[in-house]
Amino acid sequence: MTIKAPEQATQSIPRQEDLFINGENRPSASKETFDDFNPTTGELFAKVAKAGVEDAEAAIEAAQAATSKWQAIPAAGREKVLWQAAALLEQQMNEFVETLIDESGSTVAKAKGEVIKSVDFLRAAAGEPRRIEGDTTPSGKCSFSIRQPVGVVVAITPWNVPLGLSLKKVVLALATGNTVVLKPASATPVVGLMLGRLFHDAGLPEGVLNVIAGPGKSMGDLFASHPAVKTITFTGETVTGKYLAGIAASHLKRFALELGGKNPAIILKDADLDYAVQAVTFAAFHHQGQNCMSVDRVIVEEPLYDELLERLVKKASALKVGDPRLPETQLGPMINEGQLQSVHKLVTEAVDAGARLLCGGEPNPPFYPPTVVADVEPSMSLFQEETFGPVAPVIRAKDAEDALALANNSRYGLAAAIFTRDVEKGLAMARKIEAGMVHINDATIYTEPTTPFGGVKDSGFGREGLAGWSWHEMTEPKWITIQLGEKKYPF
Ligand code: NAD
Repeated sequence: MTIKAPEQATQSIPRQEDLFINGENRPSASKETFDDFNPTTGELFAKVAKAGVEDAEAAIEAAQAATSKWQAIPAAGREKVLWQAAALLEQQMNEFVETLIDESGSTVAKAKGEVIKSVDFLRAAAGEPRRIEGDTTPSGKCSFSIRQPVGVVVAITPWNVPLGLSLKKVVLALATGNTVVLKPASATPVVGLMLGRLFHDAGLPEGVLNVIAGPGKSMGDLFASHPAVKTITFTGETVTGKYLAGIAASHLKRFALELGGKNPAIILKDADLDYAVQAVTFAAFHHQGQNCMSVDRVIVEEPLYDELLERLVKKASALKVGDPRLPETQLGPMINEGQLQSVHKLVTEAVDAGARLLCGGEPNPPFYPPTVVADVEPSMSLFQEETFGPVAPVIRAKDAEDALALANNSRYGLAAAIFTRDVEKGLAMARKIEAGMVHINDATIYTEPTTPFGGVKDSGFGREGLAGWSWHEMTEPKWITIQLGEKKYPF
């Protein structure tokens, strides 16, 4: 693959993107657009049609009208579309990588990895339509249950992994026979709109996938209350997810919420320290820490504490920050100034409260350097609030029990990592950690298509994954019986 050099990438005319409704591109009903900026250069990357309530209604209606068409296609037909989409995404890898770099500030490695994982997810999903199982019940009559698509699914996604997260939601819904309205984040609408075209070219019938970009706030209430919408699948901030879930619940809609995290990496005293430092460095600083699974608290058992700090600071300080188009760059820009400032605020507040800044901590907009803060305490907001930036807050634990208590001292519970040479001890701790996903001797950032992805506490509700993990939100079970012989009724 060839990635264009930075100077070649500069666009004199920004791209124009329309909404994608009922198989065609169209401007928004208001004809308004909004600006989508390149976070590295600050230049205008695209002018995008700004959807409002009228467009959201049109997208829902198109999805509703397409349900019978998509449901009439047998599993083999749905499999073919998903397989074709995987092939097209692989062919268009360069275009998606370029867009991820320019629109979301992804480094070349992050962008390539995101596209490769998305192709893998699509391939794994192609088998899902044939896997949707029901049950039989030994009741003396013919009694069985089937799973049917719910109908229209609304997928709302964030900006940090704009291809991977949008694609996952769209595919989980399509594979189970649903039609979709996708609302990508306003910082990364183009990647979402590209997905609409990709599936269209892969043979998806008109109206089965609709993509509308624009401010979520103006459309959220409609999505969560519209009678045609049966499931809301949301990834983003906890506060937004709770708000949407409140409305959706009052309309008895299904919802899945993938929300924030404050993920601990516990390093026990018998850990392979060098290996743990490598894993933590990757998971704390990958994509500038803008990942829901980022390590956001490094909890270290006393005997290794000082040595860990020394090795982590050495590694973090050596990371290359800068132009994400350069293949050697390991950390690109923050998505925007607001995100950079919120990260810096958490770091400075912790230092003011007595934590030690060991490296980084000086913003260089749009970049924030890899930052290590030691002696972080539960009373500090850097311990409690999601950083979503390239910061490793390090916390001292007296012993393994204290490490576990510190890990669970959080309103979040998404991912966790435990580093130990004693796998039995690691397994016992994994059972006690309040998190949806625990990895022993691996980084917190890890996904597979057929596993239950999701969190507990304020990190979410429901799980996302192939092989049945999303059926609760994406399918409606139906119980059917056939009476065999005549039944005797009491009157
Ligand atoms: P956000 O909540 O601000 O926005 C997410 C999406 O919701 C966007 O498309 C936005 O336009 C839309 N939105 C905002 N208000 C809305 C409303 N009232 N109704 C409907 N839609 C609305 O989140 P963000 O800043 O884009 O993303 C960062 C957050 O996402 C972090 O907290 C991160 O941890 C979380 N995240 C979680 C996961 C996970 O799988 N658990 C993955 C990635 C990101």
